[in-house]
Amino acid sequence: MSLLVVGSVALDSVETPFGKADEVLGGSANYFSASASHQTPVQLVGVVGSDYPVEKLEPLKARGVDFAGLEKAEGESFRWRGRYRHDLNSAETLETRLGVFSHFKPKLPEQFVNADFVFLANIDPRLQLDVLRQVKKPRLVACDTMNFWIESRRADLLELLKHVDLITLNDGEARQLTEKANLVHAARWILERGPRTVLIKKGEHGAFMFTKDTVFFAPAYPLESVFDPTGAGDSFAGGFMGYLARTGDLSEANLRRAVIVGSAMGSFVVEGFSITRLLEVTRSDIEKRVAEFHRLVTFDQALT
Ligand code: AMP
Repeated sequence: MSLLVVGSVALDSVETPFGKADEVLGGSANYFSASASHQTPVQLVGVVGSDYPVEKLEPLKARGVDFAGLEKAEGESFRWRGRYRHDLNSAETLETRLGVFSHFKPKLPEQFVNADFVFLANIDPRLQLDVLRQVKKPRLVACDTMNFWIESRRADLLELLKHVDLITLNDGEARQLTEKANLVHAARWILERGPRTVLIKKGEHGAFMFTKDTVFFAPAYPLESVFDPTGAGDSFAGGFMGYLARTGDLSEANLRRAVIVGSAMGSFVVEGFSITRLLEVTRSDIEKRVAEFHRLVTFDQALT
């Protein structure tokens, strides 16, 4: 089934305790697509400025990402500069330059409007809503967001919540959005405002999936080498949505499998800067890591 994403197509400059990367391929839509394309083709909607090194998108095209919805506008591309200190779970944003995103009016190519699965990746909630209005009858709509938009576009974000089936956000964002310290309360607050499923990511501590009646927890893979956590959330979402779109099965059991595929993709991307690791891994690497997740959480529940 078809999978559409709208999000940032960025140039990132990142500093971590293990090194630096300058003006590399980044943005929520790029990370999402690089990850999801291991499962299914992806239709991407976004904008870049005249300074964007579009040739660097070729490996994504080769993997089945359709850039027919990528507008090339006059002006500067979206840029994000961030730093991670020893706590790799939280990025410190040093600079966000919206550039051409501040005047972007998404226009979906005709062949994108029938998308079955839609991911509204981290970007201005007004643009997320704009894209959603143009999609005809999606089976599942999910969105992501971050502190930047929770602070500057709260009303639009609350409007968006009414129209999505699922939201992914990290624990800090969930607390900030809901003003609840307790994550179970935060999830319930969000579930009362539209989404039927809330996925709360906790970085190296795993992820929770909440519905009205169920809770599922997946650990993060215990990695020895983490270089750059940037994009972990979007790669998680890409694995999750890609798997759902490929299988077309929205049962609770399959959503749980999708969370593990997402966790596996998040664990790969942080092993290198930018999307490099996502371009290297194979379907067999992904399957092996999913099997390792299974071993990680399986135990005999019979107490003696
Ligand atoms: P994450 O998966 O949460 O680590 O997302 C990382 C990506 O989000 C980076 O590649 C950034 O380019 C992008 N990003 C950072 N701030 C924003 C923002 N305000 N809107 C959209 N994308 C952003």
